[in-house]
Amino acid sequence: MAGVCSLCHPKTEEIVREAHYWRIIANQDQNLLGKCFIALNRHEEDLFHLRQPELDELWSLAAKVREALRELFQADHFNFAFLGNNDRHLHMHAVPRYRGTRFFAGLVFDDKAWGHHYDLIPRRVPPEVAAQLVAAMKEKLAPLLAKPEKRRAIGKSEKPKGRLKKAAKPKAKRSTKGPKKRRR
Ligand SMILES: [Zn+2]
Repeated sequence: MAGVCSLCHPKTEEIVREAHYWRIIANQDQNLLGKCFIALNRHEEDLFHLRQPELDELWSLAAKVREALRELFQADHFNFAFLGNNDRHLHMHAVPRYRGTRFFAGLVFDDKAWGHHYDLIPRRVPPEVAAQLVAAMKEKLAPLLAKPEKRRAIGKSEKPKGRLKKAAKPKAKRSTKGPKKRRR
């Protein structure tokens, strides 16, 4: 199983980043500029067998990938997907989507299916362009990954929100009622 699995042994030149539990890998198919996926380091096929620390890291990496591709290529939207049709080894696709034309390394990139499911016609770019892309993503991701987690910081500060202050009872109202009259 793991012996024939390509995602257990990804090509070094396609690896954008090695994290603790996952690797960010650039797609060979670059029909959408910056298309990549985040593959689990260990061989696992069931999405619901992921452990909490793995899930946490995946979420964090996906957010950083999105940020990096927004900064690098001004991606307008993202499709995140677990498909597992060709490779059962768990990986999440991060597919940037573009409203308009983009240019990289002298090549033109168009999102021909903007607003719909992304085009499945593969596009291999020359190895030197692929290498340039991996280098650009590495460079952009490094400082983002070094930054402390935004999401967690917000979560912490929100926690002690606690109870709302009780509104003070208007005293005036009580006084207008006056003391209960006794029956005679
Ligand atoms: Zn595998």
